[in-house]
Amino acid sequence: MIKIEHLVKNYGSFCAVDDISFSVESGEIVGLLGPNGAGKSTTMNILTGYLSSTSGKASIAGIDILADPLGAKKLIGYLPEQPPLYLDMTVKEYLNFNYELKGCTLDREQHLAEVCEVVKIKDVYNRVIRNLSKGYRQRVGIAQALIGNPKVIIFDEPTVGLDPKQIIEIRNLIRNLGRDHTVILSTHILQEVQAVCDRIVIINKGKIVADEKTENISRAVENNRRFNVKICGPQREVLAMLKSKPGIAYAEVLAERDGDAYTYTIESEYGMDIRKNLFFTLAEKGWAMIGMEALGMSLEDIFITVVDKSEGADKKDRRDARRSSARKTRSNLESDVAGDLYRNAEARRRAAEQEALERNADKTEDDED
Ligand code: ADP
Repeated sequence: MIKIEHLVKNYGSFCAVDDISFSVESGEIVGLLGPNGAGKSTTMNILTGYLSSTSGKASIAGIDILADPLGAKKLIGYLPEQPPLYLDMTVKEYLNFNYELKGCTLDREQHLAEVCEVVKIKDVYNRVIRNLSKGYRQRVGIAQALIGNPKVIIFDEPTVGLDPKQIIEIRNLIRNLGRDHTVILSTHILQEVQAVCDRIVIINKGKIVADEKTENISRAVENNRRFNVKICGPQREVLAMLKSKPGIAYAEVLAERDGDAYTYTIESEYGMDIRKNLFFTLAEKGWAMIGMEALGMSLEDIFITVVDKSEGADKKDRRDARRSSARKTRSNLESDVAGDLYRNAEARRRAAEQEALERNADKTEDDED
């Protein structure tokens, strides 16, 4: 439905979007994630025809945005970070104004009633926008994007400035819209993409550094690799065994003590599940395992590590040096997961480059014919 190929945007000598390629299938909800200044808004502004690109192509349902901007725009509903609201209008006046602006040909009364139903603003239809809460204003902004029934909806930071209840409502609304629309959502909030999106594209400094299905990232985050294990037995010997056991990459003992039991934090080698094996080894030694708790890994940590990886080892080393020793043990794990994500994104980028080269070679041959 949406295809972006080798998109580049320079502001003078500064490259804000640097050779980005990705596509979004019909009915998919894709989250565009990245730190401030990563190039998300620039990419979305190009997609929605607000900005022209320096080079590259962007198309919606096969319609090139540069070649046929009006045709492409008809397929898109856009909610910019600052919704373009006229505060002195009532909701009714504003939606009617947008209906006319878009040259909508659907039955006016019925269509506006349907849109208000979807975004739940019927009760404020006759109120002046200035007097509405931020949450309601955001809904009116979404209603504006839905007028004309566009196939694609693009949201730029849709929950910024909302309270927690409003955030949940808007996320649910976006999730529901995803049932019959293709959605791109730009955000810097990781939980938002995890809650709402089918796929996550991470951009940093104008480049894609990860592009994965949300479930893959969630699985990686929940990967059973770090545990706190409570073991009865002589602390030094237990720790020495854990440190030398094949499959365990890291082990340390925590300060707390419970009778003759100590708690140890262990991290297994990447791709290994050492739980059963550890259980039998401890049983053989006569050291009872009386507790095991899996330690999660935060999405924030993965995100930061992916972004760091894309900026090179130097910065990562500097960051690791700043981390406490406990946090440093974590970075092994995050680094592996982030490494996978980054390598996948790199492989896709190389495949896209190869495809473009082959296409150009075919085209040259055709031209020569
Ligand atoms: P994001 O939406 O991810 O926060 P943007 O796309 O807004 O990032 O910006 C990407 C980079 O381009 C930033 O470094 C920003 O300062 C720069 N930038 C954005 N718009 C302009 C502009 N009109 N002129 C010069 N630089 C710009």
